[in-house]
Amino acid sequence: MPLLSGRFLLSGASQPSLAPQTRSADASGSRSRAARAGFFETCANPDCATGWLHPWRRRSGPVFEGGWSCSPACTRARLETALRREMDGRGTVEPAHRHRVPLGLLMLEQGWIGAGQLRQALDAQKAAGGGRLGQWLIRQQGVSEVLVTRALGLQWSCPVLPAEAYDPQSLAVVAPRLFVDAFGALPLRLAAGQLLYLGFEDRLDPVLALAIERMTGLRVEGGVVQGSHFRLAHARALKASFPPVELIEAVSEPAALHALVRAVERARPVESRLVRVRDCLWLRLWRRPQQGPLPEREGVQDLICSIGGAWI
Ligand SMILES: [Zn+2]
Repeated sequence: MPLLSGRFLLSGASQPSLAPQTRSADASGSRSRAARAGFFETCANPDCATGWLHPWRRRSGPVFEGGWSCSPACTRARLETALRREMDGRGTVEPAHRHRVPLGLLMLEQGWIGAGQLRQALDAQKAAGGGRLGQWLIRQQGVSEVLVTRALGLQWSCPVLPAEAYDPQSLAVVAPRLFVDAFGALPLRLAAGQLLYLGFEDRLDPVLALAIERMTGLRVEGGVVQGSHFRLAHARALKASFPPVELIEAVSEPAALHALVRAVERARPVESRLVRVRDCLWLRLWRRPQQGPLPEREGVQDLICSIGGAWI
């Protein structure tokens, strides 16, 4: 039985690798020299016709994925490339649902439940037309929630994460509230300033984890959280103050591009990045340089754009 790691891999998706505070131009020819000079930056659009040097234009921003653009047309060109990259990447990160040992069977093999308990829980689940087996085992068969959570950890080959010392506000900047809510994710803890523990109740979501990993530059480790603890912590998470967010429904990709360009041009951010989360595009704009592993809440704003009315 293949064991899939709880650590989410990047699967070859491109990642904006430059931290907002360490941006530089492309490493080629005069651009590389310009980057070393630190100030004389050229436009990051490879097809830019003007060849403007940064200090010669009265335009301090915007910066997108580490590169300054000299005009709205160049911002548009760069965002168009990024949008194409994100849309082309659809389907490359498959949710890892395959080849998992059924939870009931796994618990039976561990000797944590008896065959009779499993049969009755499965019958109840069938009769009720659904519900998670783990919940049926807990509620109907009196199985310990700790054991069910441990089994979920084995099933997903991921750690069981504690939620006791959870501080919702400190990590509310990690992802927009919409994602925390819709994907049932809980940004739990930041370790050593570079490893983010992302908790889930009963199944990991590698798509969201990958998006957060690419957006924040942090390594994201997914894990399961004991159900009752998760629900309490998640309710608290949703009450935290998140960065300001703008939700946009675009009828088409060109309309989405238009909205993205407008947002970047309007905010003139010191950094911005674009990642796709399922059918949504997530654009984050840094209004000032990020000092630590996470931005300040007031220092960033998010834009979430659905295309063709397909929300999460
Ligand atoms: Zn340009």
